This record gives sequence, C-alpha cells and structure tokens, in this order.
Amino acid sequence: MSAHEVVLLLETDPRRGLSGDEADRRRQRYGPNVLPTAGGPGVLRRILRQFHHPLIYVLLAATAVTAVLREYVDSAVIFAVVLINAVVGFVQESRAEAALDSLRSMVRTEARVLRDGQARSVPSEDLVPGDLIELEPGAKVPADLRIVRSDELRVDESALTGESVPVAKDEAELPEVTPVSDRRNMAYSGTLVTAGGGMGIAVATGARTELGQIHRLVGSAESLATPLTRKLAWFSKVLTIAILVLAAATFGVGLLRGQDAVEMFTAAVALAVGAIPEGLPAAVTITLAIGVTRMARRRAVIRRLPAIETLGSTTVVCSDKTGTLTENQMTVRAIWTLDAEYSVTGSGYAPEGELTDENRAATATASQSLERCLLAGAGCNDARLGREDGEWVLTGDPTEAAMLVVAAKGGLRQEDIASRYPRCATIPFSSERQYMATLHHDPDTNRYVGLVKGSVERIVSMSCAAMRADGSSGPLDGERILRAAEDLASRGLRVLATAVRPAEQASGFDEDSLPGTLVFTGLQAMLDPPRAAAAPAVEACHSAGIRVKMITGDHAATASAIATQLKVLEAGQPNRVLTGAELRGLPEGEFPDAVEEAAVFARVSPEQKLRLVEALQRRGHVVAVTGDGVNDAPALRQADIGVAMARAGTEVAKEAADMVLTDDDFATIEAAVEEGRGVFDNLTKFLVWTLPTNLGEGLVVLVAIVLGTTLPLLPTQILWINMTTAVFLGLMLAFEPKESGIMRRPPRDPARPLITRALMVRVLLVAALLVAGSSWLFHWEQQSGRSIAEARTAALNLFVVVEIFYLFSCRSLSQPVWRAGLLSNRWIVLGVVAQAAGQLAITYLPVMHRIFGTAPLSAGAWWRILAIGVVTAAVVAVDKRLRRHLM
Ligand code: ADP
Ligand code: MG
Repeated sequence: MSAHEVVLLLETDPRRGLSGDEADRRRQRYGPNVLPTAGGPGVLRRILRQFHHPLIYVLLAATAVTAVLREYVDSAVIFAVVLINAVVGFVQESRAEAALDSLRSMVRTEARVLRDGQARSVPSEDLVPGDLIELEPGAKVPADLRIVRSDELRVDESALTGESVPVAKDEAELPEVTPVSDRRNMAYSGTLVTAGGGMGIAVATGARTELGQIHRLVGSAESLATPLTRKLAWFSKVLTIAILVLAAATFGVGLLRGQDAVEMFTAAVALAVGAIPEGLPAAVTITLAIGVTRMARRRAVIRRLPAIETLGSTTVVCSDKTGTLTENQMTVRAIWTLDAEYSVTGSGYAPEGELTDENRAATATASQSLERCLLAGAGCNDARLGREDGEWVLTGDPTEAAMLVVAAKGGLRQEDIASRYPRCATIPFSSERQYMATLHHDPDTNRYVGLVKGSVERIVSMSCAAMRADGSSGPLDGERILRAAEDLASRGLRVLATAVRPAEQASGFDEDSLPGTLVFTGLQAMLDPPRAAAAPAVEACHSAGIRVKMITGDHAATASAIATQLKVLEAGQPNRVLTGAELRGLPEGEFPDAVEEAAVFARVSPEQKLRLVEALQRRGHVVAVTGDGVNDAPALRQADIGVAMARAGTEVAKEAADMVLTDDDFATIEAAVEEGRGVFDNLTKFLVWTLPTNLGEGLVVLVAIVLGTTLPLLPTQILWINMTTAVFLGLMLAFEPKESGIMRRPPRDPARPLITRALMVRVLLVAALLVAGSSWLFHWEQQSGRSIAEARTAALNLFVVVEIFYLFSCRSLSQPVWRAGLLSNRWIVLGVVAQAAGQLAITYLPVMHRIFGTAPLSAGAWWRILAIGVVTAAVVAVDKRLRRHLM
C-alpha cells in the first residue's frame, strides 16, 4: 500500500499522530506491545531436575537398600533428605532466576511517538497500531512500521533475517508479494537503526509483529551460569565421581575381606555423603544472585552474568565525559561572533534570561551574525522543549536543547522558526561527522537556506567565509576563530560552531557538496557541570588501584578542564591529554605506551575507542568501557565490561553492553566494582568455610573403614550436619556485608585461584583439627564408659560447634574476628541461633534419638566440645595474623 492508504486504513493523522484518547482505546483493544513470554520449563520439570545429581542417585539407592533391610527409619530419613534437598534447591534456583528476571524490567525501552501533534517519549509497550513513531540512530524499532519518511534510514535486521549488513529503507510502494527481507518500506520490531532517521506508522504490535510470529514464545529463563560456576560445577562433579568410586571400592574391598555387608554399605554411604560438597554449586549461584540484586539496588543492572566476576578485577575504567562524568545539563553561557561576545544569564531549560553585550541587553535583532547563529542552533535541531506541570522538560539531545533555550532568550522561538522556515532535508549528527545540517525553505523569497552546527574545527574547515554583524560575508580567519574557541573551552565550556549556507534550489544538499560552501556565523559555548558524585568516585577508583581515563568526542581544552576538576588529570599534566589526531599520528610501536600513559582522550572517534580498549587489554588490563552510540557497540563488546547508559544510551549500545547504568552516573560504575569485589570475597569465604567439613567427614569415615573400627558418625548424622549447616550457617555468608577496606586493595588478578595456597593451608588445618578432635572425643567418651550413641552424638556436635566458631573466623579472611563487629551480620546471628536449637533438639529429643541414633550428652562433653571450638578459632586467628600479608 502507499503510505497514504496506510494512513487512511489505520485512521491516523500523518501530521498530528493519534490522539491520547484514541491511543488508550486502541491499547484496550490490541493489548500492550510486548512479546508473550514462556515461563521456561514447568514447575514439575524444574523440581525433577533437582534430582539429577550423582549423589542423589546414591541416596535414592540407599533409601531402597535400607528399606529392603527393614531399616525403615533410616530409609525414611534418607528419603526425607532427598526431598528437602530438592525443595531447597528448587526454591533457591527460582529466587535467583526471579532476581535476574526483575532486572529485565529495570531497563525499559522508550519510543518517540507523535500524539496530539506533540512528540513525546512513551514506554514501548504503550504503542498501538496507527501510532506515528520517530526513528533515530541507535533506536530499537519498537513495532512493525510502514516507513513514511526516511532520512538515509538504515536498519540492522539481523535479529529477524540473520542478515548482518544494514539495509536501506525508504517510502517506496512495493509489489504485493515481496518477501520480508526485501520489504524496504517496512521496519520491523526488534531490529536496530544503525544510521539515519525517519518516521513510520505502526501497523502491528506485540505478538502480531513479524518477530512475534517467529518467536511465538520467547523463553525467559536466562542461564545462571558463568565461567566460575561452570568451573566449580565441573570441580564438584569430578570430585563426586572420584568419591563415589572410592566409596564403591571400600564397599567391595570390605566384602572381600569378609566384613558385614550392611555395615560396609553404611560406611560407603557415609563416605559418599560426607565427602561430596553437594551444596557448593547452589551456594555459588545464590551468592552471585545476591550480588546482582545488590548491584541493581545501586543502579547497575547486570545484563550478562559473567560480568559480575570480571568487575572485581577491573584495572581501568574508560568513561565518556558527557553525561557520565558530567550532568549532561547544558546551558549556553556565551556566544561569540566576529564582532561581539555575548554572555547569557539564566540556568536550566527555562527560556528565562538574557543576552548581554558588554552590559547592554541584546536580542537577535542586534546583529545579523548573532541572529543567524541563534537560528542555525535552533533550526538545525531535533530536540523539543515542552512544559509539563510548570516544569520545562526536554526530549532529545541536551546539547541541542541548550541551543533552543538560548535562541528563545534572544527572541527566536522554535515554533516560529519551524513555521517560517519549513525543513526539507536533514543530514543527521553523528560522532564521526561532528556536524548536523538541515535545509530550509524560505517562502517569502522562495529561496533555500542550509543551517549547520557542529564542532568548531569541522565547521571552520567546511567554511569559505564568515558573516559580519551587518550580514555581509567577510574573509574567514580560521586561526582567530579557533583561538576564541580554545579560550572558551579552557573554561570547561563545550563549544559548538554554527554556519549557514545560502542556496538557490533544494537539490545538491548532501555531505559531499557542503565542504567549502558554508558561511561561519558564530560560536556557542555551553556549561555542563561535573556530576557531584563523580569526583569522590574517581578518587575511590584511584585508591582501589583502578585507573580512570576520560574518552570524549569533545574538544581537548574542554575535556582537560573538566578532567582537572574531577582529578582524572592532576593539575599540570597537559602531556597526559591525547587527541584523536595525535593518536592517528603515533607510530604503531608507541601506541600502547601512549595509551597507557594518557588520562584524557579528546576528539576520538568510536573506532579509535575500540583500538584503545584493545591496546589496554594487550597490556594485561581488565577494561571497563562506557558507550552510548551505535558506533560504540564494537568497543563495548570488546571490553571486559561494556557499560551502557539507560537514559542517554541507544538501544544498540544497551544490547552490546554487559552492564547498564540506570542513572548514567560514573559513580555507579565504581559502586558496581565494589559490589563485584564483595561477591568474590563472599564466594571465597564460603568455599574456605565449607571445604574443611567435607574433608573432615570424609577422612573420619575413611580412617574408620581402613582401621576397621566403629564409625564415629552414621550416614544419617552426616546428612544432618551437611544439610543443616549449609542452610543455617554457610548460606548466611552470602549476605556478608563488604569489608571496610575493600576499595583500598589492588584489583584481583583474574588468574589467581579462588583458594590461594595460603587459604588451602588453612582449610587443611581446620580439617585436621576436625578429624583429630572428633576421633579424640569419640574415644574419650567411649573410654569413660559412655555408649556408642553418646560418643557419636558428641562427635556430631563437635563438627557443628567447630563450624560455628569457624564461621565467625571466615567472615574475614585476613582481619581478626572482632574487627567487623561480632553481630554485624544479623543473618549469621539468626542462623547460629537456629542451628543451636537444632543441636539441642537432636541431642535431647527422644524422637530425634530414634531417627538419628543420638543420645543426651553430659555437661562434661559439652565443655570438651566447646574447648575444641575455641582451639580452632585460636589456631585460625594465629594463622591469619601470620599470613596477613599474603591475603
Ligand atoms: P561527547 O559525547 O564525548 O561529548 P560527541 O561525539 O557527542 O562527544 O560530540 C563531539 C562533538 O560534536 C562535540 O564536541 C560537538 O562539537 C559536536 N556535537 C555534539 N552534539 C552535536 C549535535 N547534536 N549537533 C551538532 N554537533 C554536535
Ligand atoms: Mg555525545
């Protein structure tokens, strides 16, 4: 259909869009513009999946065998453990997934739509058929659109067709049977605008879009795996198999030696149950999920889980200037023309304030060059200022909004410009081009005028003349203009130049014909204050051994002024500023050194950003890079951590990023690094805490088997220890707050193992104490005439009590126990209370005696148990003190 027919069919207004009421009605009728999601595998499937583990098979076999042997109580206990394990695993997994799911809704996609004749941003789920939607570079196409206007619109349709080369779009009418991939008058939901802009009418939303047809159901379950979890899962699988083989071997050898089959079977099961670290993968997942949630609370949304591991190792952060280190709240402060300099009062986006020329108020009528400068700024402009509840709000680019505001202060209003000089063509802004140009028709004279704005160097290089106050063109003194710009920029102001281009006809207005034809009109200098939180965050990074580098497309003088304010650049280090041109001129061999040395990169293009990241990585750095434009995507993908901005960033950048900042603030990156370090700490703490128990239990059983003595712990008792302590004690370490000095340490070397040699020694030490302590106690109790049940109960309590003491030790791997405050993690306190109640129950309740084969303990036994606990804590404290420098 022709665009006109589509307009008629969908009953929309090609100039004003739908009315708000009509849009509401259609939303009722067609539903929200979202793809239906599938919940992943069903609940039953997910519960069953919990049983898919070698240890569980062993336990199920044990259940069956004990039942056959008529040991019904044991059989029931073991089976109950299997069930509880499955339920706990299922709940934990669901919670972790829910945490990830909620992240998705934190980063919303907004679309620019025309309604009631006004451009506004709405969440893309509110779009309805008939909506007029504007497309700009970097946007994600929010619905299936019939293109009605295309300014060199190019769309990456790989999400739909797999074709990775962007396709050009236009308004043409096409034959009725045209395959989707050839419909160049349509833009499809889910595809990405890589260049140019345009407008389209939504013809299908939600499930009725092409993407919706293909992905009838989009799986929502994202995998919780990271390189680390995979490594740990692999480790625990190998260990499990090794232990199962060992257990089977002891059973076989025992049988051959003529020992009692039931007894040997029990021993083998005890060995398997005790030595296998079954809680490990779940605990790791939970710790990661808690880390993700904590980061989200601090406004850093993790899009790819592995990033959370890399964050803690970051050594360099390369940050954009505009919007990340600064507020992106632009206000034009000064205007410079050949004949005068004007200062501008007022702040924010309210057009209240005035232009003064040496103490005299001025308006656009004061001088032709001022008028043309303001006109170019406001006419060559895609931003819009509107009033909402008395507040001035902007849609679009703050740089452009600032130019609208200053024009209004000088008496030129956007609406008047739009109606007086209708726009007929646009060359959109891009970071490479560094300028934007629009062509306008002047109905009075029936001639045309091109309005151009962009970086000073670029505009000067494209100009052939400069305008004087009386409107005549004089010679272009590039030197003088650049000096004036430099002067403004060194005050930290962002400077743009404006120009006009007289034209007789509308044709021939393109990128190739502009150079050499422009008439320079003036400079506009705007203030963009640094973010309040940025300076302290930069300082925190420095003390954490992380270098901060500023990368910007802006002028070197502006960039250095801001960098000095933020202490990215120490005063008096101008040699640490590099421009894109200087980078290009560097010999290949000097490039890495220069990049490593410099702190500010100005006027760099996105491809150079990619080269910077690669050079730093080749130097062994772990690099976090921010980016917002379409062309930043390669650098974001290359970086160890690609960071995109939720507000100012394009959808293309967000798709390429590992992490999205919901507040666009540099300080959030620093916060995320801090949380990343915390996650690693807590993982290490959990491992260091849990390994001695498995090792100790395995050894105790193995020793008993080898020596042919009575088992100090029964399988059901070992199950009790492992299940209860994992849930009540170990898991609580995931909630451990970050240690106070966490941002004063150097970054973690990614090659360093989680458990260093020093920590391994500690693990072995505690395991040895557990084995020695429990063997000694077990014999002491028997020697002093207690029953085997009592001696076993003592050994069981010993394991748990030592684990509790050791848990407090593990809250910090290097600091003394009391440093962080014994009660500062209330989860641990709660867990210990619950565990203690459990121990009293299993020791003194008759029901538990029948189930677990335990017996009440004497006061003396408790004292001996506590003594061993204290000894363990003391040994670990000494170990910490001796090895503090190694941690
Ligand atoms: P950054 O975001 O790092 O400040 P950009 O690549 O956005 O850098 O901008 C580079 C230069 O292009 C700016 O210094 C300015 O001179 C110019 N510029 C920025 N925005 C616009 C725009 N909307 N229209 C024309 N020129 C612009
Ligand atoms: Mg920018």
